[in-house]
Amino acid sequence: MAKQDNLLMKHNSAWNSFKNKEEIFKFTESYKKFLSESKTERACIQNILTTLKKQNFKEFHLIKNLKKGDKFYKLIKEKVIIAGIVGEELDSLNIIGSHTDSPRLDLKPNPVYEDSELALLQTHYYGGIKKYHWVNLPLSLQGIVYTKKEKIILSIGEKEDEPKFIISDLLPHLARDQMEKVGRKVVEAEQLRILFGNIPINENATKNQIKLNVLKILKEQYHVSEEDFRFAEFSFVPSLKPTDIGLDRSLIGAYGQDDKVCVFTSLMALLKTKQTKNTAITFFVDKEEIGSAGDVGADSFILQNFAQEYIEKTNLKIGTGKLFENSRSISADVTAAMDPIYKEVHDKDNASHLGRGVSIEKYGGSGGKYSSNDASAEYMNFIRKILVQNKIPHQIGELGKIDIGGGGTIAMFMSKYGMDCVDVGPCVMGMHSPCEVTSKVDIYCAYLLYKAFFEN
Ligand code: MN
Ligand code: MN
Repeated sequence: MAKQDNLLMKHNSAWNSFKNKEEIFKFTESYKKFLSESKTERACIQNILTTLKKQNFKEFHLIKNLKKGDKFYKLIKEKVIIAGIVGEELDSLNIIGSHTDSPRLDLKPNPVYEDSELALLQTHYYGGIKKYHWVNLPLSLQGIVYTKKEKIILSIGEKEDEPKFIISDLLPHLARDQMEKVGRKVVEAEQLRILFGNIPINENATKNQIKLNVLKILKEQYHVSEEDFRFAEFSFVPSLKPTDIGLDRSLIGAYGQDDKVCVFTSLMALLKTKQTKNTAITFFVDKEEIGSAGDVGADSFILQNFAQEYIEKTNLKIGTGKLFENSRSISADVTAAMDPIYKEVHDKDNASHLGRGVSIEKYGGSGGKYSSNDASAEYMNFIRKILVQNKIPHQIGELGKIDIGGGGTIAMFMSKYGMDCVDVGPCVMGMHSPCEVTSKVDIYCAYLLYKAFFEN
């Protein structure tokens, strides 16, 4: 007779599974450091690159013949890295894909103007944001531009002694009309304007003296002219540093955890992987937040192009189609955490909870499972075996109530090659906000699962 105890599924705190929590806190300290230096996709890719080089990963195009144990990376347009360790069985890959981009405020091509004794910048938001989150928040300017003479990498506002930037919100005293508006319109896209300066260049009372002064500073200190903005990639991101949250220091509050938390954990998993039967691959990709489209998004052919080169370098006698069909993948991305203040949007039995371990979602998308990959029972069983064998705390659920909303990941693009794929990652509270919250134990469990996946 079955014991009643075994009939009921238990939802234990993952914290209880770790007697020694030291390892979790150590691991997440290095995550916080990585995150603080990886706010844009470019910065993130640079950090990954530095880490890989330190660990003796070699540039893919310099390697003629790939053999077991070789460690390589392929950098694509400073925006994507495919890194891997060649396994015993060359003809199958274990791929973990994650995205390096996060919602932010980009600059319009002609952003600088002057109004009411202020120099201002016009922005164009990137990804899914609640616009009212971005007011009254210290921001830093990040970007890159090529001038006639040089490549300029701009970063202003990340260091303590550097100036920050801000979008001002309306004072409550005069906000009676604003407060009547629907949330989507409380702050509108065209109101997301950055305060950039206040001192006129000289006593001349003609127009644009303040704009002129900030342009002069830009030119003298950063070698950037107004014309350069039109050919640049400039963005504003929160200047907040990742920080511990909660008296017990159990949580992390930081910008860009979607999806740098999966970037970091999968990168660490690759570095710590000892034995690989299949070739282990991490795929760090851009543009997920705007639908994975374009030349550096997961919906491009970059993964397939890589597979073609991999086949050539390993002298395999199969095509890319066969290679992918032999392969397995994880779409490493975050999901929503149950928020006790907004319980009504979650189905409590199917929501992920902070502190219950790594979250697995068989499918994402929205409505009737549109725009998702629905992982098979066979593949779910494969993941289950890894979880059980390695005793990894985990939870399995959905993003939120079905008709309330939804969200996509790169799972639908990874799986279109004919590869098994499933969504795996820590859950996040306040996703896409300037300060997203994760639980340290979930981050550690995601790392453990990614590592076990590579070693399987
Ligand atoms: Mn994401
Ligand atoms: Mn996202």
